[in-house]
Amino acid sequence: MKLYSPSTINEIRQKYGFRLSKSLGQNFLADKNIIDKIIEGSMIGESDLVIEIGPGIGVLTAAAAEKAAKVVAIEIDSNLIPILGETLSDYDNIEIINIDVLKTDLNKISEQNKEINGQIIGGVKILGNLPYYITTPIIMKILEDRVAADSITVMLQKEVADRIQAGPGSKTYGALSVAVQYYCTVTHVANAPKEVFIPRPKVDSTVIRLDIRKEKPVQLYDEDVFFAIVKSGFGQRRKTLLNSLTGIYGLTKDEVASIINIAGIDPGRRAETLNIQEFATLANTMKPRN
Ligand code: SAM
Repeated sequence: MKLYSPSTINEIRQKYGFRLSKSLGQNFLADKNIIDKIIEGSMIGESDLVIEIGPGIGVLTAAAAEKAAKVVAIEIDSNLIPILGETLSDYDNIEIINIDVLKTDLNKISEQNKEINGQIIGGVKILGNLPYYITTPIIMKILEDRVAADSITVMLQKEVADRIQAGPGSKTYGALSVAVQYYCTVTHVANAPKEVFIPRPKVDSTVIRLDIRKEKPVQLYDEDVFFAIVKSGFGQRRKTLLNSLTGIYGLTKDEVASIINIAGIDPGRRAETLNIQEFATLANTMKPRN
């Protein structure tokens, strides 16, 4: 069965009385070329565990199962579970879990699948054509939970992919860029026009791979301080650093001015001009090593 063919998707809709849910971000892939690119870009090895977010009717799940030792797919929509039972019936290395990914402990899933058929898994690759209404929360949850994975290969709105990849000075550079680039290196995998989905979304999409860094790009004495500065700085991005950081941790304007000066940064600059190293210097000056 060609799961990506529009006629298959229609047959499934009729047979199961399945209605695509807009609120669950159900835009299914109907293009073999882009499915191949996602799978290729995710660099799955034969001893890997794949964790897929939102399998839909299983197009990526089946393709990933051809390459990996096992695929665990997490799907919130219980109406899709019997459908996946049929579409993926040829595979014995797929497990579907009917749950909300934002309420799932992904580390537990990889822990439970450390060994597959007596073999220690090679690595963990996370994969998904993400539901667009929660793209950023999903990515940030995986990173903040420090899920022990090698990479996250995802299809997401082009606009969010642009923000993730942006650097200092760019209009789209923001707290999301700094956070994701702190945890990962980012690789562009493919562009996907609206036409590759059923139904077509309003926006174009991009596939990116986030390779989780083994070593962070900067040394921080306190990550919370770093992220608080990033959040405050970009929260009021039109303001100078001096103004946007005043009040953080109850610090007065004079105290903030002194910290920014000691960090060797011009207090008249805006957060959007700082690179990750400069944010780190600022954080380490604000809260030096104990
Ligand atoms: N992978 C399929 C494909 O490419 O055709 C479907 C992708 S569709 C964009 C997103 C999928 O994520 C849908 O199947 C949707 O039901 C599921 N989903 C939405 N919210 C979810 C959540 N919180 N947890 C797990 N799955 C979710």
